[in-house]
Amino acid sequence: MSASFSFTPGAVLANGKGRSGVIDTPHGQIRTPAFIAVGTKATVKAVLPETVAELGAQAVLANAYHLFLQPGSDIVDAAGGLGAFMNWPGPTFTDSGGFQVMSLGAGFKKVLAMDTVGLADDDVIAEGKTRLAHVDDDGVTFTSHLNGDRHRFTPEVSMRIQHELGADIMFAFDELTTLMNTRGYQEQSVERTHAWAVRCLAAHAERTAARSHKPYQALFAVVQGAQYEDLRRRASRDLACLEVEGQAFDGFGIGGALEKENLGTIVGWCTDELPFDKPRHLLGISEPDDFFAAIAAGADTFDCVMPSRVARNAALYTRDGRFNVNTARHRRAFEPIEDDCDCYTCARYTRAYLHHLFKAKEMLASTLATIHNERFTVRLVDDIRESIETGEFDAFRDEFLGRFYAGRRSVTQ
Ligand SMILES: [Zn+2]
Repeated sequence: MSASFSFTPGAVLANGKGRSGVIDTPHGQIRTPAFIAVGTKATVKAVLPETVAELGAQAVLANAYHLFLQPGSDIVDAAGGLGAFMNWPGPTFTDSGGFQVMSLGAGFKKVLAMDTVGLADDDVIAEGKTRLAHVDDDGVTFTSHLNGDRHRFTPEVSMRIQHELGADIMFAFDELTTLMNTRGYQEQSVERTHAWAVRCLAAHAERTAARSHKPYQALFAVVQGAQYEDLRRRASRDLACLEVEGQAFDGFGIGGALEKENLGTIVGWCTDELPFDKPRHLLGISEPDDFFAAIAAGADTFDCVMPSRVARNAALYTRDGRFNVNTARHRRAFEPIEDDCDCYTCARYTRAYLHHLFKAKEMLASTLATIHNERFTVRLVDDIRESIETGEFDAFRDEFLGRFYAGRRSVTQ
C-alpha cells in the first residue's frame, strides 16, 4: 500500500459485508460500488473517452494480453502509460492476461491442455481443437490468436507488461480454471496461483522500486477456488496475509469459475476472509441480479464486456428487461430506448432510428447502443451505492429485480 493508493469504506449493510467506499488512485477517485468500463485494447469499443466519462464511468479496464500482442506494452510505456496513450485521464485497471492467455490462446474456447501427468480427466479440450495453451508450474506457453507466434507468460512477464502499461490497478497472474475441472485440479490450481502470487509480489516490489519516478501502481491478488468453500476461504486467507519484501496486496480480485446461483455465497466466503479495509473486484459480471448478490456479499468493483458486446448486436437493457431493437415491432417506435434514461442516446434518438441503423449496418448503431447500455450498467451500480448510503438497499433490490425480470418474461424478443 502506498500513500497514493487507498480504500476508505463508507456505509455498511446490516449483514456487515456489503459496503460503499472510495478508492483513491494517482489518477483520481472511484466511488464504490462501481462498474468499470472495459476497454480491452485501450479503447471502449465504438465510443470516445469523453463519452465514457460523460456516461458516468469512473475508470477503464484494459487487457494486458491484447496490449502485449498489439501494439506492445513497450509502446504504451513510451506513450506515457495506458491513460495517456488512450486519452483517458481517470483511473485505469489492467487484468493480468491470464484469462485471455488460456482462453483466447487456446482457440477462443476454454480449451486447456494440462501438462501434469495423471490429469487426463481435466483436459478441457473441445473435439478437433488444437492445444494452443499449455500450463506448467512456471507459467503458460501459448500461441497468439493474431498470428500464430509462440509466447510465454509467467508471473514475472505479466508484471513487466503491466508495469509498462502503467495502470493504477493491476492483477496478479493467475490460472484460469472452469467448472469442468475436477476438485483435484482446482486444488492444484489454487496452489499454483498462490505460488504465482508470491512471484508477482516480488516482481512488483522490484519494478516499483526501479520505477519510483512513476505513479504507484496497486496490485490486486486473484482468489480462485471455483465452487469449493474450503478452497475459496483458504485461498483468500493465504493471499490476505501474504507479504514479500515488505509488499502486500493492495486489493483482491475474485475470479474464476462462479456458479451463478451461488454467486453471493461464493463471494461471501472470500470476503469473510479478506481484510475489510481493502477493495475487492469481481471479474466479469454485469447482470442486475449478479450485481445485487455480489455487492451484498462485499464486492466493490466490477468489469464486464457484456453491456457493450450485446449493444453491438442490438440488445438493449432497460429497467423492464433486455430487448432486441432489431425486431420488426421497433420499426415505427418513435420513442427513446427508455423513457427515464438520462443517456445521450435516449435524450436524442428513437428506437425506430436505432432499428434503422442496425438494419442498415451503420457504424453509429454500435455507438448509440453502447452509450445506452454502458450508462444503464454504470447507473445501476451507482444507484445501488446510493441505496447502501441511504439505507434502502433491500427495498431498491426488490423493486429493481422485480421489474427487470418481470419485464424480461413479458417482453417478446
Ligand atoms: Zn439511454
